[in-house]
Amino acid sequence: MKDKLFIAGQWVAPVKGGSFDVVNPATEQTIHRAPAGTAEDIDLAVAAARQAFDVGPWPRMSGRERAVILRRIADIILAEKHALAHLEVLDNGKPLPEAIWDIEDVAGCFNLYATFAEELDENPEEPIALADARFSSKAVREPIGVAGAIIPWNYPLLMAAWKVAPALAAGCTMVLKPSELTPLTALELGAIVERAGLPAGVLNIVSGLGPDAGQPLSEHPGIDKLAFTGSVATGSKIMATAARDIKNISLELGGKSPFVVFADSDIEKAVEWIMFGIFWNQGQVCSATSRVLVEESLYAPLLERLVAEAAKIRIGDGLADGTLLGPLVSSGQYQKVLAAIARGKAEGATIAGGGKRPEGFDTGYFLEPTILIDMTENSFIWTEEIFGPVVCVKPFRDEADAIRMANDSRFGLAAAVMSKDKARCERVAKGLRAGIVWINCSQPTFAEAPWGGYKQSGIGRELGRWGLSNYLETKQITTFESDDPWGWYIK
Ligand code: NAD
Repeated sequence: MKDKLFIAGQWVAPVKGGSFDVVNPATEQTIHRAPAGTAEDIDLAVAAARQAFDVGPWPRMSGRERAVILRRIADIILAEKHALAHLEVLDNGKPLPEAIWDIEDVAGCFNLYATFAEELDENPEEPIALADARFSSKAVREPIGVAGAIIPWNYPLLMAAWKVAPALAAGCTMVLKPSELTPLTALELGAIVERAGLPAGVLNIVSGLGPDAGQPLSEHPGIDKLAFTGSVATGSKIMATAARDIKNISLELGGKSPFVVFADSDIEKAVEWIMFGIFWNQGQVCSATSRVLVEESLYAPLLERLVAEAAKIRIGDGLADGTLLGPLVSSGQYQKVLAAIARGKAEGATIAGGGKRPEGFDTGYFLEPTILIDMTENSFIWTEEIFGPVVCVKPFRDEADAIRMANDSRFGLAAAVMSKDKARCERVAKGLRAGIVWINCSQPTFAEAPWGGYKQSGIGRELGRWGLSNYLETKQITTFESDDPWGWYIK
């Protein structure tokens, strides 16, 4: 485990020498002290990224040359898959098989953006047809410059990859600030890019607390673009700073995503996808389908099956064989989720399943898979993101009612719809105000497809070619082609 920051290709102690505890959420034991970067380290990291961008080789290399290094990064990640996944479990608590998927997706993300980097070489400029034939014009795309990335704790290395891979593919340099709850694998990424031969200063990694390291990064005048994933509250602060400084930002924020299940659905398939949609990663998923809407006639039988199956989910340390539900990430998150359940009950909801610490688990931030019913549509538990294994289930009357209830949210990250009627699924998918809609499933995520939210779930899109565009500027280059004088001033 790393105890230094990665700045300008060197492993360095934080200027102020601070560190913070890294806790295994399954055991509540401190397993490491990670380096606590502050504004001074952010200054050094931004200066290194600036230098690497302004005079270093990376932005001047062809896309093909950058792709070679991106693929090397992917290869090393795959070669170290098990060690990285193990670290992710110790840090975040998720079940090991899920951590292995994450790491495979990280490698997949670097490989995909290697291909996109090569494609940049194929279409370096786009000719623009002008109405005035004396001029020619073209659009070229260039790296935006020095990017800052601030990421959350739910998919520690994957959230880093979603930003680092497209930024590097575009030719940008970057300062990455991982979450203080899960800094371990992001710091390992420093060693991986070093081995892959990424030039010094292209990627700098500064772990630290949000206000001490995240805020100075988001406010830094040397940053050309800031990519943030995290809570709406922090996103709002970042946007306020960006408004003051006119900074290019992209925001991936929270959600309260609906899953609409029509009565013609196969009940077993519905239960399977509902459970995956909310219990995967302990429900600490921005796109978790935490509001399940079931057509009235299916409501009672589906609820019965859901409660029965959720009770069978094996809870345990993420490293134990067969674990499907690990602990929540931290004491703070655990208390937040318990408080949300208590508030749900106080506001009239009924607990249909779970709702408490599982028996036999005296330590660790473990919570039973929890199913709530009977809440009102304006209650806290139905409207606010809980970010835990807590699902709210409600009946709906008809298609119009389902769409109205689903869209009645300040969030719009994801949504899901299930029915055997494909035309209805398409119709509902188009009616849902969300950036991602799954039909007859919930959560599968592909690096090729755009990711991001409507409404307060964020601004901009990550992944795919959309993700690459976040790190590119568009420039027009216009040439006066005529031999005749222009003749505006000198007649
Ligand atoms: P958070 O906002 O508390 O923290 C996110 C990051 O911001 C951390 O690195 C933190 O240190 C940093 N930070 C905190 N205060 C800051 C400040 N004042 N200035 C700059 N940076 C600061 O969020 P979290 O609890 O880590 O993550 C959970 C949230 O992230 C949930 O709301 C979830 O929905 C969201 N999320 C969204 C997506 C998505 O793709 N839309 C993906 C994952 C998580």
